[in-house]
Amino acid sequence: MATNKKIAKLKIKKNNIVVTVFLFLLITVCLIGLVLLSLVFFLKFAIDSNLYDEFDRVKSMISTYENAYLSVREARLTAFGSDFFITDSNGQLLFLHGKDTCDSKDGELYSDGEDSSESYKVYLDTESSVFLPGGGRLSLDYTEFFSTVRSQLRSGLTLEKFFTVGRSDIFEPSHIEMPIWISSAMSGGKELYVKSAISVDLNSLFTVIQVSGLMLLVCIVIFLILLIMAVRNAVAQRRLTKLFFTDTVTGSSNKSWFLIKGERKLRSFFSRKKNYAVFSVSVVRYLNYCICHSITDGEKLLCSVNGAIWRLINKQDFCVHYDSNDFAILTQVTDEEGMRDFARKLMETLSAAAPVKFQIGAFYVPVRVSESGRIIRRKNIDLEECFNNARTARETLALSDDSGIAFFDQKLIEDQKWENTVTEMQQRALENEEFAVYYQPKYDPRTDTLRGAEALIRWNSPEYGFLTPYRFIPIFEKNRFITEIDHYMISHAARDQKRWLDAGLKCVPVSVNVSRIHFAEADLAEQIRDLVDKEGTPRELIEIELTESAFFDDKSAMLRTISKLKEYGFDVSMDDFGSGYSSLNSLKDMPLDVLKLDAEFFRGENADERGRIIVSEAIKLAQSLHMKTVAEGVEVKEQVEFLAEQECDMIQGYYYAKPMPEEEFEERLGKQEQSQTQGTKPI
Ligand code: C2E
Ligand code: CA
Ligand code: CA
Repeated sequence: MATNKKIAKLKIKKNNIVVTVFLFLLITVCLIGLVLLSLVFFLKFAIDSNLYDEFDRVKSMISTYENAYLSVREARLTAFGSDFFITDSNGQLLFLHGKDTCDSKDGELYSDGEDSSESYKVYLDTESSVFLPGGGRLSLDYTEFFSTVRSQLRSGLTLEKFFTVGRSDIFEPSHIEMPIWISSAMSGGKELYVKSAISVDLNSLFTVIQVSGLMLLVCIVIFLILLIMAVRNAVAQRRLTKLFFTDTVTGSSNKSWFLIKGERKLRSFFSRKKNYAVFSVSVVRYLNYCICHSITDGEKLLCSVNGAIWRLINKQDFCVHYDSNDFAILTQVTDEEGMRDFARKLMETLSAAAPVKFQIGAFYVPVRVSESGRIIRRKNIDLEECFNNARTARETLALSDDSGIAFFDQKLIEDQKWENTVTEMQQRALENEEFAVYYQPKYDPRTDTLRGAEALIRWNSPEYGFLTPYRFIPIFEKNRFITEIDHYMISHAARDQKRWLDAGLKCVPVSVNVSRIHFAEADLAEQIRDLVDKEGTPRELIEIELTESAFFDDKSAMLRTISKLKEYGFDVSMDDFGSGYSSLNSLKDMPLDVLKLDAEFFRGENADERGRIIVSEAIKLAQSLHMKTVAEGVEVKEQVEFLAEQECDMIQGYYYAKPMPEEEFEERLGKQEQSQTQGTKPI
């Protein structure tokens, strides 16, 4: 999940770049817009204020006309010096002074001031040209304007001059003028048209152009700075992304790349009709390899594994060094059988490529089919989950199971969930004394008398009810909580024994299971001694059962602990004798007191003639080594009789009794005592 967070961060960074580019484009556009807008506003302001002056002139002409004598009206108007003409209400020309160059198209209506009732129409001049100061004329066509400016520049005017001192050299006086016609209503429905001109002060215009140019320049500079920053950002981002997706050990792509690219592939439209498989490949005992060689050699090993996998898979498949000693592969397969073939081929390739063992876990990703039978895209598939499933499958292989291949099935997930639940509950359960000690009696088959018992754990869970050891002991062994449980059981068994002794009962030795992983602790014998002594129980009443697999770990440490236990006065028994292969070897090396014959000897086909021979010989072997024998899992009378004949010392099995709560066992102890005093058989 940590990876997902990283990926999310990366996505955010990518978004940031897009946002930056968008923002600076927006700012630049806004700035340019602002410059153009201010230019337009200035021009409009300049033209409008100019127009209103002209309107005033037309107004005075009208008032002059209206107030003069009829005969001198037109003459008075000519005094204003402009071309003009007057029309009647039908538009018929009444009087013309100068030349009528008024564009006949409808003029634009202007109002002179907000509260004024007077309105004017402005028409373009048909010649539509601008009179340049100094006598020149300029058409309103801007291309002509620019070519004129260009020719002015060519004739020795520098740009600098143009913007500073130059303008007065070119344009004298400092105005440009555009001829227009203004018309306004007179009394009697007449209309007066006056030729006029809009003049713009060049100094102001150039100042505005200069300011606008400067602003534009600023915009361009800002734009360039932002552009450079964005490009640099993008380059840094690329470098960072590359780093983010590179595995530091192999130099190839890493887990994040695998999860993003692989998931994209699985979800894609084109992959929907293909089956895939995800593999988790682990180098067994990688840490040992690094300790024996060096970390550098270890990393070289991972590189060669990476190379070997890449040579095996297709170009469109994915493989990465996922973490520590684990590799992840996503490959297309024909079907489930294809996945199995690939796993075998992968194992062969890897075994040939590196001098270590491998474990492979596989998870099958089949084509997804809708309820209607249509093949659909795997839109929501989570590759990390697929890989975890492959890894879960791999983790079911024991460490001793070198070079194994495991395929995922749903039960694994349930097992995993249960393991997590147990691990979460264990400590609280211990504190709440949810673990109960059950006792399974051991009887002498020759006399049917109680000779001992084995303490067996049960879990009374408030959430999950009564749980047998098979549901949780393997988990405790895995998570090492078993050492706490062993202590708990030894203390409780010793405490019960002491109580029964104090109650005047004739106690029998109780054996307690001690897990093999507990033997890694050098002071185990002392721990057991102290726990028993603390309860004040005689040491000979507690026996220690070692499971057979315990004998495989560290033989010398095991021997030391067993010797110390015996020295402290405890009997030690070998549990489940015969369930493995090295039992005889262990017997040879360890000074044990009791041999417990595995229940398998008395089940199914094992209970036949050949099985009987082995049991009989095992009992003889134990006797010659001065060991007592206990037969476990005996359920039928014939077996009891046979074992009695063979002089097996004790039987622990359902034939006599199932494991029982301590009160029930206490009762049995009491009954046993009674029958012994009365001289009757106990059962
Ligand atoms: P185990 O030490 O071999 O214990 C004997 C198991 O065989 C017990 O199962 C017992 O109930 C069962 N059993 C005895 N007689 C018969 C019979 O006639 N028929 C059948 N079908 N079964 C019989 P349980 O109590 O379920 O314990 C299972 C295993 O869990 C034990 O095997 C032991 O390995 C482990 N275990 C139980 N309690 C503890 C404990 O306190 N500490 C540790 N470390 N392991 C324990
Ligand atoms: Ca046992
Ligand atoms: Ca056993």
